Amino acid sequence: MGRLDGRVAVVTGAGRGIGAATAKRLAADGAGVAVLDISEEATRETVDSIRAAGGVAIGVGCDVSDAAQVEAAFARVAAELGPPVILVNNAGIIRDNLLFKMSEDDWDRVMNVHLKGSFLCSRAAQRYMVEQRYGKIVNLSSTSALGNRGQANYSAAKAGLQGFTKTLAIELGPFGINVNAVAPGFIVTEMTRQTAQRVGVDFEENQRRAAERIPLRRVGQPEDVANVIAFLVSDDASYVSGQVIYINGGTR
Ligand code: NAP
Repeated sequence: MGRLDGRVAVVTGAGRGIGAATAKRLAADGAGVAVLDISEEATRETVDSIRAAGGVAIGVGCDVSDAAQVEAAFARVAAELGPPVILVNNAGIIRDNLLFKMSEDDWDRVMNVHLKGSFLCSRAAQRYMVEQRYGKIVNLSSTSALGNRGQANYSAAKAGLQGFTKTLAIELGPFGINVNAVAPGFIVTEMTRQTAQRVGVDFEENQRRAAERIPLRRVGQPEDVANVIAFLVSDDASYVSGQVIYINGGTR
């Protein structure tokens, strides 16, 4: 018996990285998982891996910043797996640059994927959750919400997601819906690989340097985040809502 048996979960941006690790973990805990990513092709590896382990998953191509695609995706999930009661708003991109070099497009795209995407998916999901009088939403914030050079767009979006989380917790709490955020630090994924590339530092070296500044003396892995999300969407965390949990090895 898994603690998420019989539940349907949607994880966005789950083709790789933190989203993939989360989708696999929720499936291992018994949930039927809709693996959303920009194209259905991008979801294949995660879906295959969940099925190979005996879990239930479907892959759904969906750009979370497009309202029509989000509506269609949730309708398909409900029809194929059942009403979604767990949502992890994980899809994300970076378009880093110092403010004076940041284009309007860099700003808009980051806002659209992180903030508008989380809004559209939460709005679509809450219908099913309110109907069930049960739901769990976890938003992906970041330590960058506290400020990070070269990330004016990303840090504003990640700070915005914290306000979004606290507001949804207030609005949706009366319907039995818990809404929380996790704020990871340095996690080894394609996203952090891209950052290292941009600043011209070898990725392994970048990780070594980062680990030296982290009290637990290591960088994080996608599973470190997936484990906390799995707790937050379980009934073990049923009295936790409106919180932001930092997952950063103890960094201040
Ligand atoms: P990642 O490896 O880049 O994975 C992100 C996934 O989201 C990719 O598969 C990406 O697809 C997908 N995606 C991008 N735009 C999308 C859209 N519009 N609709 C649907 N899917 C989309 O990143 P990650 O490191 O796992 O990050 C996952 C989340 O954690 C993000 O919200 C990120 O901001 C947050 N986070 C990461 C770290 C870290 O250190 N890695 C730290 C704090 C917070 P494409 O291949 O098309 O881009």
